[in-house]
Amino acid sequence: MNEPVLVINCGSSSIKYALVPATADQPRLTGLAERLGSDDARLKGVDSRGEVFTRSLGNAGHVQALEAILEGLEGRRPGAVGHRIVHGGERFTRATLIDDDVVAAIEQTAALAPLHNPANLQGVAATRALFPELPQVAVFDTAFHQSLPPRAYRYALPEALYRDHAIRRYGFHGTSHAYVSGRANALTGRTGGWLTAHLGNGCSTAAVWEGQSLDTSMGITPLEGLVMGTRSGDVDPGLHAHLSRQLGWSIEEIDRVLNHESGLLGLSGLTNDMRELEAAADEGHAGAMLAIEVFCYRIAKSLAALSCALPRLDGIVFTGGIGENSPRVREQVVALLPHFGLALDPEANRASLRGREGRIDTRTPNRPALWVIPTDEEGRIADETRQLLGETLR
Ligand code: ADP
Repeated sequence: MNEPVLVINCGSSSIKYALVPATADQPRLTGLAERLGSDDARLKGVDSRGEVFTRSLGNAGHVQALEAILEGLEGRRPGAVGHRIVHGGERFTRATLIDDDVVAAIEQTAALAPLHNPANLQGVAATRALFPELPQVAVFDTAFHQSLPPRAYRYALPEALYRDHAIRRYGFHGTSHAYVSGRANALTGRTGGWLTAHLGNGCSTAAVWEGQSLDTSMGITPLEGLVMGTRSGDVDPGLHAHLSRQLGWSIEEIDRVLNHESGLLGLSGLTNDMRELEAAADEGHAGAMLAIEVFCYRIAKSLAALSCALPRLDGIVFTGGIGENSPRVREQVVALLPHFGLALDPEANRASLRGREGRIDTRTPNRPALWVIPTDEEGRIADETRQLLGETLR
């Protein structure tokens, strides 16, 4: 298929899109329709000359927003649509061509991702209505982690909770972990064992062996694992009962605090934004310094734990807004893993800039490598869409 793939990431009030061409010599068109369903809907994007545009969309909903997105594609017609779907449960282990049965199965998984899957499906419904002739492919955030063995995905809970209610660890950010570990294999010419750290607003780690995810830090929800922008990551599972009994908090309140008021924001009392935290820490803000310290320590602890999943460690890959842009975080994480025998090159670490792949270790033989690899979830969704259609049409 030579036409571009339109990649759609649909939220309840927003649609992020990218028109990804088949070859890198053509520009990618990207943008975001936001505040859908309000009186102030708008479309922001980047055109083929790299110029930013903003358009008011009045009180547009998802279908009108998609029509506006299509008009903004400068006459380029997609050959297929690739949808990011957050939760594929145990049913979806790879990208899947969307039909009515697949939509019904994604709906059934909504209990596992009540905020995300229904919103993702709004995008599927709107694009199917607008482009009935185009093949539509669902690419799941959880699918890459379906290769986890039971020892990694089972919680130590009564078996019936797994059997009857699908309660297990699923993991997220699969598209990103798949992309950066695949790039690491391609860049080193070695299909090895990688620890990948996706550090953005959401944060997770994964252990990838020969292209297969063997363990990851997120669980049945994206709350498990690392400290994130506003999410707590791991807490004592007894905390919910404690807060309920001692403070009289409801489950909704506890859920809101752990998801939206914790993490870097909660620890620092200042912000969830790492750039601002680093600036505040430089000025001696105690909360900011603590937040960065806890953040890095928890990443290192998670990488050390996940290393148990790998027969051999070839290297660590940093990605996501923080992983790609914060030499300080990378340096602090590496410093906490002396037993891995890592050899960070401080100059290369400081020089590595957004948008560029770079190796940041001293290239000492027999030491695990350290890479910064900018993630490309949209490119990966487009690739998986193309690959699936290639197989289906063959
Ligand atoms: P999302 O998960 O929403 O896609 P990103 O991957 O863009 O988010 O990551 C956002 C995070 O990256 C924010 O905490 C932001 O402060 C951080 N970040 C971006 N640039 C820098 C930088 N130069 N230094 C430190 N942190 C940065």
